[in-house]
Amino acid sequence: MSRYLTPRMQDLTPYTPGDIPRKRNVLKLNTNENPYPPPAAVLEAIRHASEDLQLYPDPCCLALRRAAAKYYGLEPDQVMAGNGSDENLFFALRAFCDEDHPLARPDVTYGCYGVWCDLMHIPQQIIPLEKDLTLDPARYHGLGVTIVIANPNAPTGLALPAAAIGEIAAANPNNVVIVDEAYVDFGAESCVPLIREHENLLVVQTFSKSRQMAGARLGFALGSPELIADLERVRNSLNPYNVNRMTQAAGIASLQCENYFRETCRQVIETREWTAAELRARGFTVTDSKANFLYVRTPKRRSRVLFRDLRQRAVLVRYFDAPRTEHWLRITVGTKEQMEVLLARLDKILKED
Ligand SMILES: *Cc1c(COP(=O)(O)O)cnc(C)c1O
Repeated sequence: MSRYLTPRMQDLTPYTPGDIPRKRNVLKLNTNENPYPPPAAVLEAIRHASEDLQLYPDPCCLALRRAAAKYYGLEPDQVMAGNGSDENLFFALRAFCDEDHPLARPDVTYGCYGVWCDLMHIPQQIIPLEKDLTLDPARYHGLGVTIVIANPNAPTGLALPAAAIGEIAAANPNNVVIVDEAYVDFGAESCVPLIREHENLLVVQTFSKSRQMAGARLGFALGSPELIADLERVRNSLNPYNVNRMTQAAGIASLQCENYFRETCRQVIETREWTAAELRARGFTVTDSKANFLYVRTPKRRSRVLFRDLRQRAVLVRYFDAPRTEHWLRITVGTKEQMEVLLARLDKILKED
């Protein structure tokens, strides 16, 4: 920290991303990346787009937005591309919240929401999940403030039916309800079809988890043309060239690889269910995750200790050191082979009693 940093920034606690291993042969199950490579057509599109690297990318992302609109059954003016979901979520909070316009969110959810609120001096209305970590939609009816809900939620993996979120939107007609669908492709119900009915519903999706493109940084905000115009205002006030030309091309190519997308999602879901059953057979408690990660705990080891033991055996998972999450571990679903390695190392660790 320099002596020039403002007191407000000094007080801020930034988000801590999952560790990036520097060594080879580390089993990286800590940031919910897709275990499969991107399809060849995506790599070819990136190579081709890079030939024009001296030129700025299209600031409107028109070709990409057209392709995405077609895919989602929307119009291009209902779609905005961003540098990952993180950027779109940040733009949404910048657009719909400020010192006098709070954000409501669950207590256990994606950590960035709270960090961005602190950065932008947005007061938060923190709504606890139930004892079993489920989210009771009734707690969000008639709040009268902007709401963000990750569905499926992170790090619990638990999902609400789309209709429950539609009801939250209907019960807060004068506020925006943001649905973060980072993991929706792994078995939850998307709210995109509800956009037509609810002009205050903003759905945010990413290509980082289900489309093998975490390294490219691409996400979409989907909503009424008016909401999207609001986000465009923020985007054009910060960084109009926010999505680079390789990523724009890669996004279009990815949307054309529907079979590969479906098949890899199916494999992740199958491996998730297999791994969950194996862990339950070993006495673990495992939530009913609809995401590409499992949220687990075992009476045999403190999660903090198990996290460290796994790291010692070159397996990286995620541990969140906060009152309601300290008893749990979040484990990304990799390939079946990767999960077999995970289970073998867990067995070794737990045998050491
Ligand atoms: C991974 C994740 C994001 C961020 O996605 P990017 O598109 O990589 O920025 C947003 N929300 C949740 C809940 C996530 O898990």
